[in-house]
Order: sequence, then structure tokens, then C-alpha cells
Amino acid sequence: MQAFEATNHYFDQAAARMDLTGNMRTMMVTPDRELRVEVAIEMDSGQIGNFIGYRVQHDNARGPFKGGLRYHPHVDVDEARSLASLMTWKTAVVDLPYGGAKGGMNCDPSKLSRSELERLTRKFVQQIHDFIGPDKDIPAPDVGTDAQVMAWIMNEYAKYHGFHPACVTGKPVEYHGSAGREAATGYGVSIITRETLKILGRLVAGTTFAIQGYGNVGSYTARFLAAQGGKILAVSDAFGAVSNPDGLDIAALDAHVAAARKVVGFQGGDAGSNEQLLTMPVDVLIPAALGGVFDAAMAKEVQAKLIVEAANGPTWPEADEVFSSKGIVVVPDILANAGGVIVSYFEWVQNLQHFRWPLEQIQREQETRMVDSFTKVYEMSQRKGVSMRTAAFMLAIGRVGRARALGGI
Ligand code: GLU
Repeated sequence: MQAFEATNHYFDQAAARMDLTGNMRTMMVTPDRELRVEVAIEMDSGQIGNFIGYRVQHDNARGPFKGGLRYHPHVDVDEARSLASLMTWKTAVVDLPYGGAKGGMNCDPSKLSRSELERLTRKFVQQIHDFIGPDKDIPAPDVGTDAQVMAWIMNEYAKYHGFHPACVTGKPVEYHGSAGREAATGYGVSIITRETLKILGRLVAGTTFAIQGYGNVGSYTARFLAAQGGKILAVSDAFGAVSNPDGLDIAALDAHVAAARKVVGFQGGDAGSNEQLLTMPVDVLIPAALGGVFDAAMAKEVQAKLIVEAANGPTWPEADEVFSSKGIVVVPDILANAGGVIVSYFEWVQNLQHFRWPLEQIQREQETRMVDSFTKVYEMSQRKGVSMRTAAFMLAIGRVGRARALGGI
């Protein structure tokens, strides 16, 4: 099974409980537009570098297409389709006036110099600028891209269309970005984790966590949970894991990562593997790296009681069934990691108004929106007797379907 098929499997699980016609189903799962562009640049060596970029625009019934750009060697059209579709359902679950898109570049950013990365990004914008824009399609950061990449996108877009900071979100705060955007996904994951634990009669304080991935999302999640008294027993990145049965000192770990660029080698914990982290006895497991982490075999080994999906698409459908049969609660990606796109929305609104909001307002409104969405999804799951994932999809499909029907085909 490929990633897009897996996303559609979750869509179908929800759609089966709603009265969607076959044609409506086809219209809702099929991407509106798929761009595949050649991005050739001059490398520092003087040679030509050949790259392929993608932008899949999945659905815009509820508003402009919205979603990140990923720079990673695994990027291909199937992955972009799956992630674009997840954005449609994510923006609908948290009720943002957006549709869904995703794109990226098949490349290894760790092997590119800063100036190669800049040329690559600018060339990509040259290829797609007519298809993006503040009320068409608004890119944002994802795996392998950051605020600097978004700044280059805004600057390159301006050369064709003039000053439009709302054409991209996740920009640096000093360059039309928003307070709180960098931390937003991890902050949101910590809010959703807290709310889920509350339902289970627990507090973050004293609860044990393992977090797979220590990039933007994983590291901010760890900081916010540790600040509430959560015990982060293990974290990992692409090079390996570190763990400590008494809880890692996150501030000390951050100082180590700032210098070493990886978690391995941290003196305040023992070295381990990613697989050990995923199967260790903790209360809550948080995948915060790439998709496709849990297959059926891995799911059987998981000992956590709660999984909060900070990454997009970490769970294959057969693993989801194993989790459900073992009574493991799974909070789906389209709810758990929606904090990023929520604050992207606030950034977009600020850019359109040419006005800045303070961090306190952003975090307060992010929290309100996430807690409301969590409550709606949880209540739907209880009322219909379905998983939180199916409930989240049902809520999203209902909203997108109504917008389609009201707007006309
Ligand atoms: N890439 C992030 C996500 O998957 C953020 C998208 C956005 O802010 O548009 O949700």
C-alpha cells in the first residue's frame, strides 16, 4: 500500500458511515491539480543540478489551497498527494477557511549549501508562481524547509506579483512572519496531549513520554510537555535515540543538540535505537518524524497506551487495526499536529491586515481552537462509537462536502 492509498483508506472508513454518493467520493479524494516541474540549478561546483519539484492541490472547496513544502529524498507525487489530502481534512477539522495542498522537492537538503538551497527555492518559485498566491495556494514549512526558505519564496514571488507577504506562511518573524509560528505545531501537540490525558483521568505531570524525531515539531513538543512536568524518557532523530529512565533534562539536551546537530552523544542519557524508542514501556508515544513508521509488526511491539501523531501519516492502516485491538488510543495527525497550520492562518490574517498580534493572543487563540476541535472530535467518536481518526475524518468530510454542495460543482 502506498501513502495516498492509506489516506484514502481512512477517508473511506469515515465515508462508509456517511451517505456520500460514489461520484461525490471520487470528487473528494481526487486532487484538483498536480504540478511536476523540473528545477535545474547551477551547483557550487559549476555542474548542473537536476531536481524535480511537486505541488499537489487537493481541494479548495473551503478556501485557498494550503500546506507545506517538503525537501527530502523521499518526496514523490504519491507522498505529495497523500499529504495534500491530509491538509484538506486537517484544515476542515480545525475549521480554517482553507483547502489542502502539499509539495516539495526531491533532494537531500543536508547535502546542499545554503546558496544551492536558495537557488533551488527561487527556481522552484519561478516554475510555480502562477499557481500560488495569497488567495490561490499558500505554502508553508514542512520537513527539510524552514523560515529562511519561506523568506526566499516570499521575496521571489514579489518579483513577479509585487509585495504579497500572505503568499507564504512560516516566514521569519523579522520578515513578515508571526510570533509563535515556529513553536506552533509542538505547542499544539502538547495541548492535544494534555486534553487527551484529561479524558483518560491523567495529568501531563508525572506521565512518561517517548518522542520519535527531534526536529522542529519533536523538540518543541518535548519542551512544552517537560514544562508541564511530563517526563520525557527518550527522544530520537535520524542518527539514533537517547533515553533516561528518570526523564531527560530537555534544556541540557537542547544545548547538546545546538552544538552536535544530533541527539546521540548526549551525556545525560543512554544511547539506543529508534526501534527501541518506539517499543519502550512509556505512557505516551509521540511519532514526530516521517510518515509510515508503524506497520503491523511494529504496532504489535508498541507498549504505550496512547499515541499522539505529531508527524503526518505515521500509521499504516494495518497498524491502526492492531492499535485498536490492543486498546491503544490514537490521536490522529489531522487533529494532533494542526497547530502549525492554525498559526499559519493567523500569520496570513496578520499579513492581509498589515497588522501584528502579540504572542499571548496567538497562543490563546490557538489553544481555544485546538481544544474546541478536540472536544468536537472526541464527542463525535463517543456518539458514533468510532475511533478518534474516523471521527476527525467524519467531521472534516461533512464540512468539505457541505461547502462543495453550497458552492456548486
Ligand atoms: N507542514 C505543516 C503541516 O503539515 C504546516 C502547513 C501550513 O502551515 O500550511 O501541517
